[in-house]
Amino acid sequence: MSHSWTVPASSALRARALGPIASFDPESTPGFDGDKDSGTELLAERGRALADLQELLYANGRSGDHRSVLLVLQGMDTAGKGGIVRHVGGLVDPQGLSIKGFGKPTPEELQHDFLWRIRKALPPAGRIGIFDRSHYEDVLPVRVHNLVPRSEWEKRYAIINQFESELVASGTTVIKCCLVVSKDEQKKRLAERLDRPDKYWKYNPGDIDERAHWDDYLEAYQAIFDLTDHDAAPWYVIPANRKWFSRLAVCELLIDALSGLELDWPKADFDVESEKKRLAAAG
Ligand code: AMP
Ligand code: MG
Repeated sequence: MSHSWTVPASSALRARALGPIASFDPESTPGFDGDKDSGTELLAERGRALADLQELLYANGRSGDHRSVLLVLQGMDTAGKGGIVRHVGGLVDPQGLSIKGFGKPTPEELQHDFLWRIRKALPPAGRIGIFDRSHYEDVLPVRVHNLVPRSEWEKRYAIINQFESELVASGTTVIKCCLVVSKDEQKKRLAERLDRPDKYWKYNPGDIDERAHWDDYLEAYQAIFDLTDHDAAPWYVIPANRKWFSRLAVCELLIDALSGLELDWPKADFDVESEKKRLAAAG
């Protein structure tokens, strides 16, 4: 492999290491010196590493280990969250995944605190959970449109930090990825949705109205990175104009998270030698 990461993805993409989100370049490929072909080739190779690690996590979960991994995906409409679920999630055994998308809260969900639906969807032991949107929506559209009073959403950053630190303490490795598309690229992707009958289902007329609030969303994302990026539950900012790069980057970050668990194959809870003898003697 001639092209590779020159800086580990976990350093090159960490929110804390970057400047303001408003001047972030969604075309860039931080830490990676290859092009689309080499990136796509590397993704296939790294996908096998990810699949092996996922199997280890699953095997340990089956053997009583309580740990899990949670990948939180955020990003503006068309940023490619669904593509990450399909193309990175698709690299591993689907039985090991726990995928949940969060849309506008239902009337029932609105009767509870904003973390209620999140807690119900957390990954079980041994699984990789993927959230397509998350509790961060409660400080994104909710903040931009004051869907609850400012005094209410302002408190949520601290509540989220507390929630995530408890989650981490209970054995869930949390990584948070924000996919960043440029406003122009979003326009192109929305136009494509309108041009292709097989993409109408993804189109939502409200997405155009949200574009009018682009800068407010950037400000809301900046507040998230400033207030909720911690070593225990880090934020990564992923340029997403090039889909091959965002997929490669998220795959690499997941590998990094799983490797950090230092998992080994679970020991047999039976005597291997005597089981071999029993099997040999069995009819
Ligand atoms: P999609 O991900 O394209 O299916 O769209 C889901 C929509 O639900 C997006 O417009 C989100 O901003 C919106 N949404 C998700 N969670 C919340 C929330 N807690 N409050 C308000 N809107 C939300
Ligand atoms: Mg949408």
